[in-house]
Amino acid sequence: MIQTSENTRCPLCGGQKKPGKTTFSADLGSSVVVLRGVQASICDQCGEEWISDKTAERIEEIVNGARDRNTQVEVMSM
Ligand SMILES: [Zn+2]
Repeated sequence: MIQTSENTRCPLCGGQKKPGKTTFSADLGSSVVVLRGVQASICDQCGEEWISDKTAERIEEIVNGARDRNTQVEVMSM
């Protein structure tokens, strides 16, 4: 789930968001893209993750590129 927010408090549980890395995956139907080392804000209580607009744009570019290549499974690191 990609969500964007600049708040430092988790809107779900009120926990503290901390910068960290996460793994993003997208199922495109004919192919699956896995992106590792994605920068995110992660809630230290419930583990919910937020990705910045800039990172989300980057992910979209990579996913679109993978779709064009038509590979079944693509695993990449950011
Ligand atoms: Zn939370």
